[in-house]
Amino acid sequence: MASTHHKLIILGGGPAGLTAGLYAARSRMDHLLIEKGAEGGQVLLTDWIDNYPGFTDGISGFDLADKMAAHARRFDMNSMFGNVVSIDLSKPVKQLTLEDGASLSCDTLIICSGAHPRPLGIPGEKEFIGKGVSYCGTCDAPFYRNQHVAVVGGGNTAVQEAEHLTKFADKVTLIHRRDELRATKILQERAFDNPKIDFIWDSHVKEITGKDGVEQLQILNNEGKYSTLDVDGIFILIGVLPNNEMLPLEDLEADEGGFIPTDTETRTAVAGVMAAGDIRSKEVRQIINAAGEGATAVLAAEDYLTNLS
Ligand SMILES: Cc1cc2nc3c(=O)[nH]c(=O)nc-3n(C[C@H](O)[C@H](O)[C@H](O)COP(=O)(O)OP(=O)(O)OC[C@H]3O[C@@H](n4cnc5c(N)ncnc54)[C@H](O)[C@@H]3O)c2cc1C
Repeated sequence: MASTHHKLIILGGGPAGLTAGLYAARSRMDHLLIEKGAEGGQVLLTDWIDNYPGFTDGISGFDLADKMAAHARRFDMNSMFGNVVSIDLSKPVKQLTLEDGASLSCDTLIICSGAHPRPLGIPGEKEFIGKGVSYCGTCDAPFYRNQHVAVVGGGNTAVQEAEHLTKFADKVTLIHRRDELRATKILQERAFDNPKIDFIWDSHVKEITGKDGVEQLQILNNEGKYSTLDVDGIFILIGVLPNNEMLPLEDLEADEGGFIPTDTETRTAVAGVMAAGDIRSKEVRQIINAAGEGATAVLAAEDYLTNLS
């Protein structure tokens, strides 16, 4: 099998990886970015992005991904398609194995493998992503001005985002599978006091229906009774899952959710390994901070390489 060594390997081609690719290429480092799907990552899952600076009228997810990749290519970013299936960080030279058996190595690695929203896994969910199904209140709330939206979940994120949504929507119905919320008491109190938030307890959304976008939710309560709720959108906020199946989680001292802790410069517990973007252990997962961390990570990688030689 061919084996290729690079000073820097960037794992993942979402906003964090593409920004790292831009910075590495622009500073003429010997680098390689590996992406298993389409460059852009989760940005490709969203129809319209309204909160990335510089695009005053917003930009489609596809166009932003395309522009980020083209920007890095202007400086000759070196990239390949490949699915990294395992990583050995036990020695100073890091080893990566791809699904096709190819083996690659590097002196420094930036992990930008991202995350994905935990889905409900119900009919209608996939079909209506970007057409009323959202996994990010911070991103999509302004699209629901004066409308009725549902939020599914009972943790801090769901309750906080339900409150955020009331700044735009006329009505927010929070649907939870239990009879009490898991969110911290102060968040609960604020939600209970908010006249725009309604609650449906002990219930599961079983199906999302509509024509060109979300129109109704089919809800089943714990007593076996079905009901229909008319809504313009549904925010599924039941957690985020890290893309970490190929990572040596013990070496990286992953947190209990499987995300990778770093210092402020994105350095992980393993010397010469950085983590940037949604895979990092953190509270806010947005394109802007993924990109920022990708840039920081390259500077940390450069610093590591300078001290190596
Ligand atoms: C529906 C939706 C809407 C959103 N809307 C907005 C918004 O409007 N504004 C905003 O700021 N944020 C938004 N976000 C959040 C934003 O998309 C993420 O914070 C951002 O994409 C994170 O970038 P990342 O590079 O860290 O990870 P990702 O975007 O997750 O990219 C990771 C990349 O790594 C690749 N990868 C993973 N594992 C491997 C492997 N083993 N081998 C090779 N490649 C691998 C993946 O294929 C992927 O391309 C939204 C998220 C979702 C899900």
